[in-house]
Amino acid sequence: MDRIITDKLIGSLNKICPNRVRTNQNLSDISSWRIGGIADCIVEPAGIKELQNVIKLAREEKVPTIVLGAATNLLFADEGLRALGIRIGKHMSQVIINGDTVVAEAGAWVPLLARKVGKAGLAGCEHIVGIPGTIGGLVYMNGGSKRRNIGTNVQSVICVDSDGKIVEMSNSECKFSYRSSVFQQENMQKIIVKVTLQFPERESPSEVRRRMLNILEERRKKFPKEYPNCGSVFLSDPNMYQQFGPPGLVIERCGLKGLRVGGAEVSTKHANFIVNLGEATAQDVLALIKYIHEIVCKKTGLLLKSEVRYVNEYGSILSINA
Ligand SMILES: Cc1cc2nc3c(=O)[nH]c(=O)nc-3n(C[C@H](O)[C@H](O)[C@H](O)COP(=O)(O)OP(=O)(O)OC[C@H]3O[C@@H](n4cnc5c(N)ncnc54)[C@H](O)[C@@H]3O)c2cc1C
Repeated sequence: MDRIITDKLIGSLNKICPNRVRTNQNLSDISSWRIGGIADCIVEPAGIKELQNVIKLAREEKVPTIVLGAATNLLFADEGLRALGIRIGKHMSQVIINGDTVVAEAGAWVPLLARKVGKAGLAGCEHIVGIPGTIGGLVYMNGGSKRRNIGTNVQSVICVDSDGKIVEMSNSECKFSYRSSVFQQENMQKIIVKVTLQFPERESPSEVRRRMLNILEERRKKFPKEYPNCGSVFLSDPNMYQQFGPPGLVIERCGLKGLRVGGAEVSTKHANFIVNLGEATAQDVLALIKYIHEIVCKKTGLLLKSEVRYVNEYGSILSINA
């Protein structure tokens, strides 16, 4: 296959985002699973203007794009990436707090944002303090913990669409539901650049901090840290949770803890985590997910849905529903 990302395109990207264009990026170095082949090119815009120019250029050159945050919820293909990766990270990560309103650029690191909010004496952000990702990725996933979702606190979201236009979306337009948002729809193609959050409840910063430390301690005990992973693999659907318990327990009861395919293993600490023992490939993880899905379905009738997403070689983001 011919290279889609040409030297001419790389030259133009370098003019738009000087020193923030990486070619032949090993995806296993940036994904929290430490899995993935080589990406032709990843660019990190610093601000909306640069992002608009990158989108415009990619459109003119007919190059497919994919937006990445911290890659903590993504399984990259072993074949790598032949699309342009647009990474929204530390160069777009300002957080401003005014009263009970928090305006965060999409690349803001969630644990830092949570701490900042807590320090300002605002409660309600504790459940996200241990989630390693960007606020843009968290809003896209409507992530959270302790049965909570960030969507509850979102007032509005500013995005750049595929024409490079700035669009503001209200909470209801974001269509938040359990670990889902409108941004996940296939034809959506909006890049989140800024999020306005509201935390109306006030509390002493020391009390918020105490609760955050408890949550972090709980997570430290429960979740595997020794090997690279992507957090929970399967969604904890609220109905399933009530009837059968969390997916980790369901998988454990099916006797799948410790099961291995190649270098991928169902964590012996928490069965809803798949860990990379060192040399795992995306194919190993996909095969393990498929197997877990099949066995759980056979033994319980439950159809587990995956929370992590697969990024194929052409930059399509697919949910892994075995
Ligand atoms: C150890 C560990 C623990 C975790 N615990 C939790 C948890 O408790 N709760 C939870 O909900 N999640 C958890 N996760 C999963 C993950 O951290 C979250 O889903 C996180 O919000 C993803 O953010 P990210 O920046 O890494 O996004 P990425 O993984 O880079 O991307 C995820 C999706 O969001 C899209 N995206 C990213 N940024 C943008 C943007 N600016 N605009 C539009 N789309 C965007 C991407 O295209 C992709 O489809 C955990 C992960 C790990 C590794």
